[in-house]
Amino acid sequence: MNLEKNGFLDVDVDPTIDLFAEIERLKKEKNAILLAHYYQEPDIQDVADYIGDSLGLAQQAAKTDADIIVFAGVHFMAETAKILNPHKKVLLPDLKAGCSLADSAPAPLFKKFKEQHPDHIVVSYINCSAEIKALSDIICTSGNAEKIIESIPEDQPIIFAPDKNLGAYLNKKTGRNMLLWNGACMVHEIFSLEKITRLKMRHPKAKLIAHPECEDPILREAEFVGSTTQLLKFAVKDDAQEYIVATETGILHQMQKDAPHKTFIPAPPNNACACNDCPHMKLNTLEKLYLCMEHELPEITMNEQLRVAALKPIERMLEISRAAGLIG
Ligand code: SF4
Repeated sequence: MNLEKNGFLDVDVDPTIDLFAEIERLKKEKNAILLAHYYQEPDIQDVADYIGDSLGLAQQAAKTDADIIVFAGVHFMAETAKILNPHKKVLLPDLKAGCSLADSAPAPLFKKFKEQHPDHIVVSYINCSAEIKALSDIICTSGNAEKIIESIPEDQPIIFAPDKNLGAYLNKKTGRNMLLWNGACMVHEIFSLEKITRLKMRHPKAKLIAHPECEDPILREAEFVGSTTQLLKFAVKDDAQEYIVATETGILHQMQKDAPHKTFIPAPPNNACACNDCPHMKLNTLEKLYLCMEHELPEITMNEQLRVAALKPIERMLEISRAAGLIG
């Protein structure tokens, strides 16, 4: 089935079957839970048991009693679910659904960097490989990063990895001077301030809302900055009617569902293509999802020593998030 070469099961799917109904059937038959990230295509979001951002998904993965976790997201997210659930089967529809941000921190290079700063502790954004997690003291997400940083004594030097934009934003918000690894997300670095400014002239009442992985000039112009879940909540509760949304376009589906009377405009990228669609996230399709549930492949596997080392900083994050009232 060419799994190794393609990263997914290359099997023809009968075009007459109802994939939504089949996925529901497989969930029940196999006691499987389907977790989907907000950046997944709308069809996948609609068939998921839980849709969320990295923090919500990690929390759901930690508390599920399903036998199988099907993760409609990218590789590091499914890895996180496996780290939290060593005895459960964790499936990812396409193993090649990676992440440019996670790839920007290769473990051997990061290990050397860490060794050069032995007095620093390492806080890593969850968008990193299991190997980087294992080299970290605490993991964070964009939803809890500020609280995590604030929980660390002020005189303790910190390395923040891998996202330099989120790190710079956090330095500004918390008044720290964390040492930043030079990584970035290809999707959130693509927005054009010039095009956004022109768009705002055509939509003067629209509010710019942005994810903290965006570059500083975009964040400075934004009227609200937050994680994907925070952007969604803000857009629903706020009293404006129009928003320019600077993050991956997948979130617009939930925004439109939760606030159908409002208008959501994707922030324009600095070129002509739809580069604010994450190409990694969009590798998952409904067909691949169905096949992966039917055949229980591709599966995420992990060396136990690595898993145990990567678990510690994730547990630390969940503890701090619980204590701060960010999760139940
Ligand atoms: S949007 Fe960026 S950070 Fe998120 S999965 Fe895609 S490349 Fe990675």
